[in-house]
This record gives sequence, C-alpha cells and structure tokens, in this order.
Amino acid sequence: MSANPARTRLLDYLERREYLRTPAVRAGMEAVDRAAFVPQPQRYAAWDDTPLSIGRGQTISAPHMVAMMLEELQPRPGQRLLEVGAGCGYHAAVAAAMIAPNGEVHTVERIPQLAQRARANLAGIANATVHHGDGSCGLPELAPFDRILVTCGAPRLPGPLREQLAVRGRMVVPVGGRTLQALLVIERDGDEWREERRPGVAFVPLIGKHGYED
Ligand code: SAH
Repeated sequence: MSANPARTRLLDYLERREYLRTPAVRAGMEAVDRAAFVPQPQRYAAWDDTPLSIGRGQTISAPHMVAMMLEELQPRPGQRLLEVGAGCGYHAAVAAAMIAPNGEVHTVERIPQLAQRARANLAGIANATVHHGDGSCGLPELAPFDRILVTCGAPRLPGPLREQLAVRGRMVVPVGGRTLQALLVIERDGDEWREERRPGVAFVPLIGKHGYED
C-alpha cells in the first residue's frame, strides 16, 4: 500500500469517532483506493466522509457507513459473502480484502451500466464476482452465505436473504421507508434469527421482487 495522507487522515477520524473499531476493518479500508472506484468528477472528494454520486441516480455510501456496516458484519478470511447493491464496487472491494485470499464475494447489481462498471472496477480482484440481476432474491445457486451485506434500503427483510444466510451467519440490511431506514443486524443461530436495530440511516431504495416497485 502506498502512503496516502488523505486516506490516513480519514481513517484516523473514523477511529476517533468510533465508526472504525477493529484493525481488520481498518486494514480492509486501507487496502482499497476509493478514488479509483468513483467517477472522475467526484475523485477530489474520495477521502472526505461523504456519500458520492456514481451515476444513474445512485450513490456510494459515506466512508463512516462503510466502516459501521463492516464492523457489524465482521467478515473473516475464508468466508462467503453476498452483497446486494454493487454500485461502483467499492464496498465489495473492501469486503473482498477482508476475506482474502480464500473467501468469495458475490455482489449483485440491478442496473446493467453500474454492474458493468463495478465489473471493470473489480477486474483486478480475483475473489470478487459481479452478478447482474435482482439481488432481493439473493443468489440461491450459490447459497448459503456466511455474511450478507445489503447496501440499499428494503421495505422489509427479504425472505430469500433470510433463508440464504448460513447457520451462525450475519447480515446487515437497512429496513424501513423509501428514504429513511433502520440498520438491522441479524444473526442466525440454527433456526433462530436474532435482530438488533440501529435507527436513522438513509440508503437508496432496494427495487425488486422483495423490495420496492420501480
Ligand atoms: N455498495 C455500493 C453502493 C451501493 S448504492 C458501492 O460501494 O458503491 C445501492 C445500489 O443498490 C445501487 O447501485 C442500486 O442500483 C442497487 N440496487 C437497488 N435495488 C437492487 C436490487 N434489487 N438488486 C441489486 N441491486 C440493487
């Protein structure tokens, strides 16, 4: 990793604010250049703690939200992780760094142009695969997943994602209204699903069979 003062400054700030709490998540965010994932006009702000537009009306989450979700999820080396909402592929790249070298990230994006861009952005990352389709249905053929990361807001917990979570798996998913949600942290223990909620998060809507209508 080449030293990047703007990145170090941001990660130090996220640590002070306790969004970043573990060395594993910090190392994941240190391994990926956010500037390389966002469109050129946004690059100057890549290391500010702010969401950025990635085109087609979609946004990449602010770094504190990326850190917070990964702290809740705690992906570990060797795990299989499903992401719903690939966007530009940045969050998937950080997760891929955390589960490398033997883990696999499968990320699903419904907008074809974004799926294509995420695929290009993730081309150098061997353990990340981009799928084009409706991620609210999960990826039944590749299930179960140890970790599920949903980066768009659902009206309710999509049933297929609940079923595709491995025993002792963990999922983070924003659930609520079209513009404001609570972040659900779900842990599966056998046939029990335990749930905690962190209110007050804002994601673009999950649109699909088990989400909002287009
Ligand atoms: N994790 C992304 C940010 C995602 S923004 C990143 O790091 O860049 C949320 C994304 O979810 C948008 O690109 C949106 O098109 C996508 N999305 C919405 N509904 C979806 C669905 N049903 N399946 C897959 N992707 C969906």
